Amino acid sequence: MIIVMGREVTDAQIAAVTKKLEAAGLKANISRGVERTVIGAIGDERQLTPEMFTPLPGVESAMHIAKQYKIVSRESHKQDSIIDIGGIRLGGKQIQIIAGPCSVETQTQMDLAAKFVHEAGCRLMRGGAFKPRTSPYAFQGHGVEGLDMFRKAADKFKLPIVTELMDARQIDAFMEYDVDVIQIGTRNMQNFDLLKEVGRTNKPVILKRGMSATISEWLMSAEYIAAGGNHNIIFCERGIRTFETAYRNVLDVTAIPVLKKETHLPVIVDPSHAGGKAWMVPALSQAAIAAGADGLLIEMHPSPCDAWCDADQALTPDELKKLMGTLGAIAGAIGRTL
Ligand code: PEP
Ligand code: MN
Repeated sequence: MIIVMGREVTDAQIAAVTKKLEAAGLKANISRGVERTVIGAIGDERQLTPEMFTPLPGVESAMHIAKQYKIVSRESHKQDSIIDIGGIRLGGKQIQIIAGPCSVETQTQMDLAAKFVHEAGCRLMRGGAFKPRTSPYAFQGHGVEGLDMFRKAADKFKLPIVTELMDARQIDAFMEYDVDVIQIGTRNMQNFDLLKEVGRTNKPVILKRGMSATISEWLMSAEYIAAGGNHNIIFCERGIRTFETAYRNVLDVTAIPVLKKETHLPVIVDPSHAGGKAWMVPALSQAAIAAGADGLLIEMHPSPCDAWCDADQALTPDELKKLMGTLGAIAGAIGRTL
């Protein structure tokens, strides 16, 4: 952290800043210039906040210089991390496509969906048993019963399951049904207590970007999970809110290379919740893979027009199969495998 002192700073004001730094176990490096005096904090500055210094007399500004995220940062781990999901690798050269319905509806729907996910060549399956819905009157998901249907359907094709955790009280059920990947949804990206709880598990976690979250807030949320000991984190860009109303969200493709630079952890994209319409999904998926995404989370329903949730954005089984073909070609062109 550096603390910038104003033009007319006094020795007593510099001493007060130094004392505060020393009380926190850091040392002060004072550089007196003609215009300004800059005090550099030497030591672990992560415990400091600018607000500890800005109210002090003579202080003009204070700012962090080290990154606030440590474990998830590329600085701490140069190589790309590969997440092992029951023997299926996500990250590195390998691209993984996770597909399935928005929500778990019936055993028949899940059995069919699992078959189509497998036939399309995808190695992991998604489906929500606990659904975060805008309206309290909309279908909220089947809960634990949904986990049971999901597990049964996916097991027939040995597909690891990805499903959303909304509340720490659901963790025991997630363990009982041996959920392979815990999804943290956009609405919970900054539910810090929930992040701490998943940080205590050893399950891979897909951390979706908050719909209005900055990259740095997103990285800090991942750090919450990592700080608890769970480093199996996958970032998922799912579109952000902007002034545009022509589509559900804006897919932030720029976030892919930026995150890949900032973190060693894999980055996937959800083109379904970004565009919000099935016809946009192939174009957004292709853009994401071309831009360096390590995978996709795609909504596919055996019969989209009958879907209980997000019917507009679900691909048909045939559309998913066709998309897998084009994605394979893009992956090959950039030296990766699908
Ligand atoms: C979902 O994946 O079904 C979902 C609810 O996504 P998001 O949290 O991105 O809205
Ligand atoms: Mn959905």
